[in-house]
Amino acid sequence: MRASAFSFSQRLALDACTHCGQCLNVCPAVAAANDAELSAEVRLARLKGLLRDRNAFFQNLLESFGIVPGHGAPSLDEYGTSVFRCSLCGDCQEICPVGLPLKDLWLDVRRELATNGHAPAKTKAIRANLEGSHNVFDEDNDERADWIDNMRKAPRNLVRRQADTVYFTGCVGAYFPLAQKIPMALVQILVNAGTDFTIMGADEWCCGFPLLGSGQPDALADIIAHNVAEVKRRKASRVVFTCPSCLQIWKEVYPRYADLEGLELVHASELVAGLVRDKALTFAQADEQAEPLVVTYHDPCDLGRGSRVFEEPREILRALPGVQLVEMAHHGRHSLCCGGGGNLEMIDPALSTAMARRKVEEAQATGATTIVTTCQQCVRTMTTYVRRNKLGLEVLDLAQLVAKRLAKPA
Ligand code: SF4
Ligand code: SF4
Repeated sequence: MRASAFSFSQRLALDACTHCGQCLNVCPAVAAANDAELSAEVRLARLKGLLRDRNAFFQNLLESFGIVPGHGAPSLDEYGTSVFRCSLCGDCQEICPVGLPLKDLWLDVRRELATNGHAPAKTKAIRANLEGSHNVFDEDNDERADWIDNMRKAPRNLVRRQADTVYFTGCVGAYFPLAQKIPMALVQILVNAGTDFTIMGADEWCCGFPLLGSGQPDALADIIAHNVAEVKRRKASRVVFTCPSCLQIWKEVYPRYADLEGLELVHASELVAGLVRDKALTFAQADEQAEPLVVTYHDPCDLGRGSRVFEEPREILRALPGVQLVEMAHHGRHSLCCGGGGNLEMIDPALSTAMARRKVEEAQATGATTIVTTCQQCVRTMTTYVRRNKLGLEVLDLAQLVAKRLAKPA
């Protein structure tokens, strides 16, 4: 662990923590595992200790002679395990009264651990899959748009050479059968509104977010260059995402590698809210084709805390005839994580499930019959928990609910 791997402000952050414990109180991993070691407060203190132990004058001197001291490796492995048992939900950063930039710090700690061989071994598969197949599931990337064949009324020419808007589907929506309903629904909405759009099919590669979360950002450059070139080749001025993690990496990391000038990046909920405002969509009235429905909305971490999109999904829900929105105890800025982020499902599936349980229980307490969200990974995590436990709840992406509520042609 090298102190030089961290920025000056990150090193300052280690001393700036006041040990107020607020991050410990909100951390969904701490609550689900009943383990304070997983909190930002304890991780920061451990990191400070590790950097102090490993960056003394003599270590630098030894390294200058090419000698790498091997002391303390087991504790670094333990620290690595702890750091990766985190969903990167960002609530610790959101609550921290000192304003410590914790989320980027966790990413940089992961990078430093991975660089030095202290990340969980499973993370290596992510890089192998992305480099070999260009998608996180190691599927044939030529099959990335095969979900179109499963649409009841698939529009023709969804993969076009040129369009104003590119719909970037993301790996989960493209390959995971349950989540494939989400791109199908957004396509239905965009066609209904007469939007000029295309998908990129096999030319779309994984956005690279799983590499970032697994501490391997050094493999991002080719992916980013490829995806940006493919979007530009289609002369698009806008890219729309149903996956908040794809949106976040495009917004925050892609500009470090590529020129995105003239390219608007939006989440589907932002685009659809605009369509609703412009009255470009017509919905069935509650007493005609659509049943009244009580829903609760789950803010995905990467869309809410990550991209500050809180209001647009609620605006859409309020515009749907017959739909009543009830809020969970934790919503908006402090929405509880569903356990699906940060590659946690791969690293520690039991912890991911325990987090999903807390989320679903909170949703159940509202009395809603449907959990609506705006992320294919959240849909996957919560649906898996609901089905396994045979709970009488439906989990839908907002695009699915909107598509269901479109007025049927007369
Ligand atoms: S990012 Fe979320 S899960 Fe990770 S330490 Fe912070 S609050 Fe806990
Ligand atoms: S909320 Fe911020 S200041 Fe308080 S213990 Fe956590 S990291 Fe430290």
